[in-house]
Amino acid sequence: MNLSLAIALTGGIASGKSTAASLLKLYGYHIICADEIAHQKLESSAEEVVRAFGEGILKDRDLDSSKIDRQKLGAIVFSNKNARQKLESILHPKIREEILSQAQMQESKGIPYFVDIPLFFETNSYPISRSLLIYTTKELQLKRLQERNHLSEEEALKRIESQISLEDKRVMASDVIENYGTLEELQSAIESYLRTL
Ligand code: ADP
Repeated sequence: MNLSLAIALTGGIASGKSTAASLLKLYGYHIICADEIAHQKLESSAEEVVRAFGEGILKDRDLDSSKIDRQKLGAIVFSNKNARQKLESILHPKIREEILSQAQMQESKGIPYFVDIPLFFETNSYPISRSLLIYTTKELQLKRLQERNHLSEEEALKRIESQISLEDKRVMASDVIENYGTLEELQSAIESYLRTL
């Protein structure tokens, strides 16, 4: 399978990928969002995930809820590589299948579309040859992540360093948009990029 009209939209945590995705949507492009699909698959696989990680990952048990608390699960998988791999082995195949099925629907429309995959280079499991990287400096990435997720510097660094660095992704990406200015500057960089499509 080759998804010839797909462009993988990627970045590093807090590099501005979601902000870029909203702008691309405003310009009328279709975006397949891997995170959204991942959330759906986590919900529909809740039983399997609880079997693997225990009931401690559920939301407030007093409420007799059977929903997974993503913060609690995140705390486990971000600090433990084996746990992360275990979760990935449960969810990735399901996420991949859904992304590919949505992408095939888009291919039939004949217009370029984006597949928003935060860990596109890390997972390296999609037949997509074009990619667009939203790039920023590590300092800004750290600052934006701390502010957005209310994390300490140490927690934020741990998350950033669990991914391939933006410097290395920059070399692998077919196109790069730099996001270290204002939102208006990001918007005009996206406009220039879209003119090249
Ligand atoms: P990602 O999806 O890559 O994790 P986001 O798009 O959520 O990153 O951006 C991370 C944070 O930085 C968000 O709070 C967002 O509003 C902010 N941000 C992104 N780009 C800019 C920018 N050019 N100027 C100011 N804030 C920005």
